[in-house]
Amino acid sequence: MIRHVVIVGGGFSGTLLAINLLRHDGPHATLVERRPAQLARGVAYSAAHEDHLLNVRAANMSALPDDPDHFVRWLTRNTLGDRTTFVPRRLYGRYLREMLAEAAAAHPHRLTLVEDEVCAIAPHADGYAATLATGGALHADAVVLALGNLPPHTPPGLDPAALPPGCYRGDPWAGDIAADLTDADEVVLVGSGLTAVDAALLLDASGFRGRILAISRRGLAPRRHADAPPRPGLSERPAATLSHLLAHVRARSAELGWRAAVDELRPVTQMMWGAADAATRARFLRHLRPWWDVHRHRLAPAVADRIDSLTTAGRLEVAAGKLVAARADGTRAVLDWRPRGATGLRHTRAARIVNCTGPQGDLLRSAEPLLRGLLADGTIRPDGLRIGLEVDAQSRVVAADGRAAEQLYAIGPMTRGGLWEVVAVPDIRQQNWTLARRLANAQWVGGEGL
Ligand SMILES: Cc1cc2nc3c(=O)[nH]c(=O)nc-3n(C[C@H](O)[C@H](O)[C@H](O)COP(=O)(O)OP(=O)(O)OC[C@H]3O[C@@H](n4cnc5c(N)ncnc54)[C@H](O)[C@@H]3O)c2cc1C
Repeated sequence: MIRHVVIVGGGFSGTLLAINLLRHDGPHATLVERRPAQLARGVAYSAAHEDHLLNVRAANMSALPDDPDHFVRWLTRNTLGDRTTFVPRRLYGRYLREMLAEAAAAHPHRLTLVEDEVCAIAPHADGYAATLATGGALHADAVVLALGNLPPHTPPGLDPAALPPGCYRGDPWAGDIAADLTDADEVVLVGSGLTAVDAALLLDASGFRGRILAISRRGLAPRRHADAPPRPGLSERPAATLSHLLAHVRARSAELGWRAAVDELRPVTQMMWGAADAATRARFLRHLRPWWDVHRHRLAPAVADRIDSLTTAGRLEVAAGKLVAARADGTRAVLDWRPRGATGLRHTRAARIVNCTGPQGDLLRSAEPLLRGLLADGTIRPDGLRIGLEVDAQSRVVAADGRAAEQLYAIGPMTRGGLWEVVAVPDIRQQNWTLARRLANAQWVGGEGL
């Protein structure tokens, strides 16, 4: 019987699990978060600026799958928007914090919050001991890893130590990427996806009026949401080969528009991923992922308008190319990069270089003490694609010998190797709900487990 669950990581995934355990009258939960400012908000919802908007309409952002209008009711009650609004991510963080506080107040003595870092997990008696960085350990029957994404790797061709001090920023959301810049400066964003959009908005909102160059291998930028939500049809699951998938999406795009054609795959994406063999998944990542990402994860119209106006004003350029080298030149850096398809190099003198390559999942390159320890003793292993850690269908981590742990689980984006579509709220909340019910022994109630 599970009496106590330790949840490592208090971002969206960990916080929601704690809330769901309370709602299901489950075991006592201890939620451990090492960055107090991120409690409940995590990385995404402690956004640096008001201009950082959700990329999903409020109507689909309820944290509770059993109460789809929960977030819209909260917004309406606080007169902050309606179901069509793309609200600031910070506001969503406030919603999550309030939910956590309300759930804890409604179920006194059932949740413990701990400000600390879990740096090791080992078997102990019938459960686990989670060692804390400040000393001591938490003992529990089950442990859930809700660690979020791994930070971006330093882009190839860049050695931060060889650049002038303060020139390179590895954390695009740190809030200070515009510090000390003048309008005569140029900023290079390495990457051109959603993270680069966040960085460009932050630079602009901080008053930077110089030029921004975003470089990525294909130069693809996220597409915009339509002003009104598309109406997906009722999709049949396309055959599991990539060529069939492409043909299917193209045909449906011609009938319904590309947004609806992509959105209608949503209910079957995890199943398609599950049915695809390892070679197909790897080919998808290599060839289709960049296209998938920019069509699937879209910009709120207001954000797309601002990006368009920066581009039209000549202040933002998105280029396809490869970074070759970067060196110091006085207080600036000079980047050598090769435009896609060109043989020659372009040289850009930048006052700042921001790593916008986005979240990572390669465990073998992680510097996190907890993950390194769990890898070293064989408790976890990377998934076959090295985009996260391997879990089984019950969210239990899979050990180096292929066996699933008894009561050690992982949730959130690090489980994308098995599910693919588990990085946004609508999918994480479902995964979370299922695990909470399992841990609370509630999955049989109402016949869902039958
Ligand atoms: C910038 C950004 C914007 C996004 N926007 C949207 C959106 O608009 N709509 C949408 O649906 N989805 C969005 N997403 C996706 C999704 O909602 C997030 O990825 C999701 O919030 C993941 O939450 P998480 O708790 O798994 O990870 P995180 O938010 O990263 O939280 C993990 C937490 O674990 C803590 N932690 C890690 N290791 C330890 C340890 N050893 N000990 C203690 N604590 C630890 C970290 O400090 C962190 O706070 C966005 C994601 C990002 C990154």
